[in-house]
Amino acid sequence: MVSAALGIGVITALMAFANMADRAALQREQQLLQKGFSGLLQEQAKRPSAVALWDDAVKNLDVSFDHDWTESNIGQYLAGVQGFELAVVLDREDQPVFAMVGDDPNAIAQIDSVLIAAAPIVEKVRKAEERRGPIEDHLREMAGQPPLVIYSTAVSKTDLGLMALTATLVQPDFGLTLPETSRSAVLISGEIIDQGFLSDLAVRYLLNEATLHAPDAERVPGHAALLVHDSSGHPVARIEWHPQSPGADMLRMSMPLVLVALVALIILAMRYQHRGRKATQRLIESEARVAHLAYHDTLTGLPNHLRLLDHLGDAIERLRNERQPFAVHCIDLNRFNEINDSFGQQASDDLIREVARLFSLCCGPEDLLARLGKDEFAIVQAGATPDRADALAARLMELAGKPVEIAAGRVFSGCTVGVALIDDPEVAASECVRRADLALNMAKISRKCGHGMYEPGMDGDLRQRLELREDLREALANGGLSVAYQPQVHQGGKLYGVEALARWHHPVRGHVPPSLFVPIAEESGLIDQLGTFVLRRAFEDSKVLGNLRIAVNISAAQIRLSDFVPELKLLVEETGVDTRRIELEITEGLLLGDDRTTEQTLGQLRDLGFRIALDDFGTGYSSLSYLQRYPIDKIKIDRSFISNLGTDSSADAVVNAIVRLARALRLDVIAEGVETEIQRVCLAAAGCDDIQGYLFGKPMPVLAIQDMMKDDNAPVAPDTVRPLAVLGSAR
Ligand code: C2E
Ligand code: CA
Ligand code: CA
Repeated sequence: MVSAALGIGVITALMAFANMADRAALQREQQLLQKGFSGLLQEQAKRPSAVALWDDAVKNLDVSFDHDWTESNIGQYLAGVQGFELAVVLDREDQPVFAMVGDDPNAIAQIDSVLIAAAPIVEKVRKAEERRGPIEDHLREMAGQPPLVIYSTAVSKTDLGLMALTATLVQPDFGLTLPETSRSAVLISGEIIDQGFLSDLAVRYLLNEATLHAPDAERVPGHAALLVHDSSGHPVARIEWHPQSPGADMLRMSMPLVLVALVALIILAMRYQHRGRKATQRLIESEARVAHLAYHDTLTGLPNHLRLLDHLGDAIERLRNERQPFAVHCIDLNRFNEINDSFGQQASDDLIREVARLFSLCCGPEDLLARLGKDEFAIVQAGATPDRADALAARLMELAGKPVEIAAGRVFSGCTVGVALIDDPEVAASECVRRADLALNMAKISRKCGHGMYEPGMDGDLRQRLELREDLREALANGGLSVAYQPQVHQGGKLYGVEALARWHHPVRGHVPPSLFVPIAEESGLIDQLGTFVLRRAFEDSKVLGNLRIAVNISAAQIRLSDFVPELKLLVEETGVDTRRIELEITEGLLLGDDRTTEQTLGQLRDLGFRIALDDFGTGYSSLSYLQRYPIDKIKIDRSFISNLGTDSSADAVVNAIVRLARALRLDVIAEGVETEIQRVCLAAAGCDDIQGYLFGKPMPVLAIQDMMKDDNAPVAPDTVRPLAVLGSAR
């Protein structure tokens, strides 16, 4: 449109210029014609002076009139030689004495209208004659030169037609013949102004199609016109001609070019606009993509953290207006890292996508599922009650607990859920997430099955954990921790080994259980120091523990540290421990997945001489394949099965099965948490020879173990197991 407007503007401007040029040309032509016309009249007017300034003319026209002389010298000359249509001689009294019209030398009767028309110019001539004074004086003044020509000319209408009339005073040229009065004869010459006259003019001034018209005749359209006036100023004729139009010509010539340029311009503009529109379209699309990316997770296409906060803002607004409470669920996959390490990035991506799909099945139309991080999800549950929130969290855990089929095979991820129920509109969106996240962390720490619900007291718990972390750091640096040893005996009661267990006596809080500080150490990276501390102490104490076997707990986070094996080697060299007496207790979690590094590490530990025991057996994913694949020497039946022995028949069955399995695989087996005689007997019946538990001794200082070793030299019958009080406790 702009280019079209521009084109129209250009054309309009061109037309205006052309018009202006044409008008200027017309004006110039008019002026030229005006000048040319009067110039031609003046030329005509001067021509009779050749015969009017002549001594012979004075003699034959004025001194005494000679008709024949006049006819041959004046009439014939003016009409024949000069081409005038009319020649008249007036005497001193202005009476016509000779008139020649065309070829007729006796035409005085035809010239009445001419005389009337010529009266004004004759009068002018007479007045000039008077001003000249007597001719003798004038000739003297002229000093041998001919006198000045006295004449007057005008365009007038006569019966003969429109005429250019000139009145010329007859004067002597040398003064040989002089008039006898102060007045002389006057010569009137006339030329009819007709088409012929005009054609001369047109040729001379390059006028096109010049025509002569009566002043009141109708005008030829498109023609220029010039009015011709008589001596009294009345219009007597009109000259018309086809004016030159340089502007229009230029326009005509340039118009095709301009039009072509204009069309090209419009085409260009349209293409440009088309491209522009496409570019804009692309821009809009990419903006939308960027906006989508800004609010969505690329892997799953789920809303991201930003979108979640937006959504929470809306949910809070609804809570304020419609009193509709909602719940925020924070979900964390339990074994994501292990699966990622074992199966690789592609598998973990597949897992995340599959889990996202499963979780989305649990969501209602008004709920929002978002992916917050690597293996973290969140759900905003609309219209939640405590029961509904519990039900959703349980459903999520159930789904994530089932094996998931991905390209790499079957994996179990499991998840932990933290829930915050929001019924106060003054809680900010970020605070809603923080609460659910806190509940999640608490659920993870407590390691209980099930999900965690946010409670106001949790903030205090968290603060306490943070304080504990700093206190633990300090305790590790300043020797605030110790190691207790719990006896491990054969069924006959003979002490054959101990389990080293970390102990922390906090100056203010007193005894802090390892179930609290070990996870804190794992989370905060202090596990390396803690683990090394226990190992060093156990290695050193081994020197005073005869040939007792010493079991040391190694957490998964610790064994995964890259310099775990080299540091352990150094420690072995430093302390000179006999590694064959050291049993490293690991948990099944470490073995999950097809982990080459774990296999390698365990192999290296074995090569160093260490024995490997699988702790808490039966609680995890007790898989036969782990026992076959990994270099394991011993399994430790978890306390939860032992406590139910004798009361729950399925516990007996499990324990029996585990013992048989261990036998079949030629593995040692030990039962932990043995507290009662019944449990001991049941274990004996199942064929489990090695036992550990309060029934034989609580964890105790190394000195107490040394005491026990002395006593142990006397054999003890199974039914005369030492009472707990005698053995004492490290706590
Ligand atoms: P765990 O390896 O299963 O250790 C056995 C736990 O059961 C010990 O608790 C022990 O005091 C307790 N126990 C032993 N006999 C009985 C019994 O007859 N009845 C009952 N109810 N409990 C019994 P503790 O010392 O509180 O340790 C808890 C957990 O902390 C350990 O479980 C272990 O996982 C971890 N832990 C302790 N010390 C260390 C350590 O030095 N390094 C690492 N990585 N973890 C440790
Ligand atoms: Ca253990
Ligand atoms: Ca255990």
